[in-house]
Amino acid sequence: MGVLVTYNPKKQEKTVNFLTLTGMKVLIATEKPFAKTAVESMTKIIAGAGLEAALLEKYTDRAQLLSAVADADGLIIRSDKVTQEVVEAASRLKIVVRAGAGYDNVDLAACTARDIVVMNTPGQNSNAVAELAIGMMIYMARNRFTPGTGSEVSGKKLGIHAYGNVGSIVARYGKALGMKVYAYDPFVADKSVFARDGVVEAASADELYAGCDYISLHIPATEQTRRSIGYELLSKMPRGATLINTARKEVVDEQGLVQMLTERTDFKYATDVAADIQGLLDEKFGARVFASEKKMGAETAEANINAGLAAASQTVDFLLNGNRKFQVNK
Ligand code: NAD
Repeated sequence: MGVLVTYNPKKQEKTVNFLTLTGMKVLIATEKPFAKTAVESMTKIIAGAGLEAALLEKYTDRAQLLSAVADADGLIIRSDKVTQEVVEAASRLKIVVRAGAGYDNVDLAACTARDIVVMNTPGQNSNAVAELAIGMMIYMARNRFTPGTGSEVSGKKLGIHAYGNVGSIVARYGKALGMKVYAYDPFVADKSVFARDGVVEAASADELYAGCDYISLHIPATEQTRRSIGYELLSKMPRGATLINTARKEVVDEQGLVQMLTERTDFKYATDVAADIQGLLDEKFGARVFASEKKMGAETAEANINAGLAAASQTVDFLLNGNRKFQVNK
């Protein structure tokens, strides 16, 4: 049995419940907490492996994170930012696990320089994000559920930009809705997956955008993809087209998006990740743009629990057995 330490940032007090066997501590630090049941199961996994589990939730000040991480060997986060400052404050830190797919909130260079392993939990929230992408597509096709004649998605062409964990599920659901599904992802090693899934592989992003009524974006935010979806690409889309973005706001060139929405009054944009200029988009383009109030792609009880449990298991497996299977900073 390990130690369960709960930290209440309001009262600034810790509660210690068990004894540790390994002397190692794993901090779960979440501005936006995991579901309660997920936290209970995560602490059981950590404490059950003989590690100390500590919890910092809903922290409002970076100083609270810097203080809590000071003696942590492992750190589990959600969208929390792990900056150079956090790395410097965590002299014992060996592993950071981002419970989720994207890890652009972690300063990989700072972690790598300190030999800190960074992992994500791929696939754990993919279904939740895929369902949201499909929901947004139908929402836009039906005029945001307001009076007026909408259109059906069945028979339309759906383009999946990046065929990873989320993209491949969106493809499956698109097919179930009777859509013709296309995909572009030059990094898929086994190209036979497209034929197996009944998906037509596009030769380029240009070809994908030019041929599809709906594009669902699933590229990660990297140096190569940042602001890569702009006017040039979007203007290739056919009349009445819609772009659905459940990936990251950074991958869209916002000025190019404004140009497209201005010139093409038939074009619509729905996003789970509000643009920096979302206020302007809403004001200028009204019902043709939609942004979730808060990023909610992974906000389901199921995804929350799956990602949290995977993060706890991966952290323990690395600290005790050195398993680096999901390391992203190799
Ligand atoms: P994944 O790692 O399983 O798949 C990413 C895919 O992108 C891979 O197949 C890769 O080959 C492809 N890719 C990379 N660069 C590309 C490029 N330049 N052009 C085309 N394809 C490219 O990730 P995933 O689980 O499918 O998630 C995709 C993205 O969705 C994440 O990176 C994350 O940013 C975002 N996401 C958002 C939410 C949310 O709450 N809205 C939740 C989870 C993930």
